[in-house]
Amino acid sequence: MRKFGYEKPSKLEQALTLLRDSPGAAVLGGGTTVIDLLKLNVVAPETLVDITELAELRASDVGGDTLRFGALERMSDVADNETVKSEAPVLAQSLWKAASPQLRHAARIGGNVLQRTRCPYFRDTTYACNKREPGSGCAALDGGTTTLHAVLGGSDKCVAMYPGDWAQALIAFDGTATAVSADGKRKIKIAELHVLPGDTPHVETTLKPGEILTGFEVAKSPALKASHYLKARDRESYAFAAASAAVGLEMDGDTVKDARIALGGVAAVPWRAEKAEDDLKGKTFSEDAARRAGSIAFEDARPLGGSAYKIELGASVVAGALMKAHELAQKG
Ligand code: SF4
Repeated sequence: MRKFGYEKPSKLEQALTLLRDSPGAAVLGGGTTVIDLLKLNVVAPETLVDITELAELRASDVGGDTLRFGALERMSDVADNETVKSEAPVLAQSLWKAASPQLRHAARIGGNVLQRTRCPYFRDTTYACNKREPGSGCAALDGGTTTLHAVLGGSDKCVAMYPGDWAQALIAFDGTATAVSADGKRKIKIAELHVLPGDTPHVETTLKPGEILTGFEVAKSPALKASHYLKARDRESYAFAAASAAVGLEMDGDTVKDARIALGGVAAVPWRAEKAEDDLKGKTFSEDAARRAGSIAFEDARPLGGSAYKIELGASVVAGALMKAHELAQKG
């Protein structure tokens, strides 16, 4: 068994100092990802810095024009919040559908956004994997199973799919994250937090060494109020997405005033489908328009043998989610 240190600071400053002074440290929140990867020897931190005592990371406020969430909020608490369910159904639904009840009670929203890929070769150290060990190769691209892999945003080094749910809902509505390190605080657009694999699939986010996420913000809007998260998966009780869509609509009579579409389960990062959004805006909404938007969202898809099914599935998930959002928008 590999030995590692464990620290549980009670103040944010202490945590940031620990992370600055221990480059081999990893952050521990709900533990639903890190502990798994540690047991599998996929990660080997010298120290785990347990941040669950940090009150600053639990502060949320959903009463104003902007919804604010602390990164340490439990997924279940945000998913069950009545204001979130009413003002931002897509946020609540994406967390509800992200995991089983046990995991929703343990996992934190910050961890969900930073969730690592479920590529089976990444989690099994007997296989080559550029993400786990840069330059070692990619077992998925080298004749492996690709049913769970990305059809959008992959590279010739890695085609791993981003498995989270909440980040899709956040990027569809221009959400931002706050990050802090010993050097100070900064805001990051969620759309700029995750990094395409390119030649360096081991670099997954724009977070700097020693930096942690402290919270998230999303402005309330008519499209967020008429929003929906639809997730197609192998088991309805819990499973990662085969394809999912976070969408929202603002209508002016029969005309689409604003459209938001982000995709999950199909791309290397949380994926905003802006061309599909633009195709809807200013036009009369109909089932045909929703289906066309779904097809446009996958125009640039590059499937592998096993992942080709995601294109038709994903397009119909987008269309189905838009139909539901339209229903909500019509109710006002
Ligand atoms: Fe590793 Fe990415 Fe290839 Fe999976 S797809 S084996 S994560 S390099």
